[in-house]
Amino acid sequence: MSGGYEYALAITSQFPFCSIPLRLDSYSACQFACRYCFAASRGGSTGQKRIRSANPRELARRLERLAKGSEARSVLDEMLAARIPIHFGGMSDPMMPLEGRLGVSLDLLKILHDHSYPTILSTKSDLCATDPYCDVLAAGNFIVQISLPTLSEGLASRVDAGAPSITRRLNAVRILSAAGIPTACRVQPFLARDDEANDLVLACAEAGAKQLAVEHLKLALEDSSHRRGLSVALDMDLVKYYKLRDSPRVGREWVLPVEERVRRMLKLRQMTHSAGMLFGAADNDLLHLSDGTSCCSSVDQLGFKSPYRFTFTQAIHAHKDGRISFSAIADEWRPRRSIGQYVNSKSRIPRGSIEDYIRAHWNGYRHGSALDTYFGVSRTNEKDEDGFVIYTLAADVRYLLLSGDQQPLNACAE
Ligand code: SF4
Repeated sequence: MSGGYEYALAITSQFPFCSIPLRLDSYSACQFACRYCFAASRGGSTGQKRIRSANPRELARRLERLAKGSEARSVLDEMLAARIPIHFGGMSDPMMPLEGRLGVSLDLLKILHDHSYPTILSTKSDLCATDPYCDVLAAGNFIVQISLPTLSEGLASRVDAGAPSITRRLNAVRILSAAGIPTACRVQPFLARDDEANDLVLACAEAGAKQLAVEHLKLALEDSSHRRGLSVALDMDLVKYYKLRDSPRVGREWVLPVEERVRRMLKLRQMTHSAGMLFGAADNDLLHLSDGTSCCSSVDQLGFKSPYRFTFTQAIHAHKDGRISFSAIADEWRPRRSIGQYVNSKSRIPRGSIEDYIRAHWNGYRHGSALDTYFGVSRTNEKDEDGFVIYTLAADVRYLLLSGDQQPLNACAE
């Protein structure tokens, strides 16, 4: 353990897509060692590094200052003053073993509770279902999202090294739900066999989850002990598997072909709805297939309507007869100050605000996802009077957004 964790509260790179791009982490690194951990490749998760912890007093001071009506001094202040929900647990697990000794997450939860601040606690640990955590969560403005990649205890013990068993995680969902705390399950990444998917969905519903979100595995291009370990745990050569399927490369990762992911996502969505839960399609290019208007995990439907909807995903949802235009989000709230320190140097716009980034990337984005990477969205040759490209949304995807689960998409029908 060492000193203060400077970036405990930050804006995530998901701000063009997600309505909840505000993350909070109690610890600068994670003691769990999940084989697929994306945070590990970004330096956020490792049991070996010195772990720094957040300073809860800083969050308390900031929220108190804003509650007294002081002027926002930074983009984080603007987001907090607007009460954009916080995603607590982005780069490390807030309930990892160190929490039992230091209680930093508990202190942060108490502060968030005092301000009734909307917060999604994301964890793999059942510590959150014990007292005093459960009491604080029940009294505050919280949703708890428990993460699990499979129902198989054997596989989970190989891929989620150090984390509690699946039985314990589902039991945590059960306890929290019984205490009246809205709970969600996040299958991230989806590592179950397709013939196990329905059992997984039913187990989450039976435990009391109100929502289920699914994300596919993104495979890092770089060779690493994590990547090799995951292949061993799954008893397959993942690189070969992804290459055989002509998996496209997105940034520094391979993703499975969209046709394969959409087919699975739609089946899971149908199963989830049949089990009485909301569904979140958490792959970036499939976010618009989620329930809710704008959030990747559809937790907005559990009572956390985020005022931040200045996103590509919202623009798709606000299409007019399949035409997607910038004007659809032009009046949405957004913070005004620079987000420079939260954007990587390759894509940084000097002193750029969120609006500057969305405007600059609306017509295409060299370093990452833009609007036409969403499934069913394509560019037209038209531009509006301000030079923003007009996109279109395929008719079968529009139908799906309107009608729920009914029909398989033509493009993806088996
Ligand atoms: S719990 Fe989350 S942050 Fe920690 S190693 Fe696993 S995936 Fe990474």
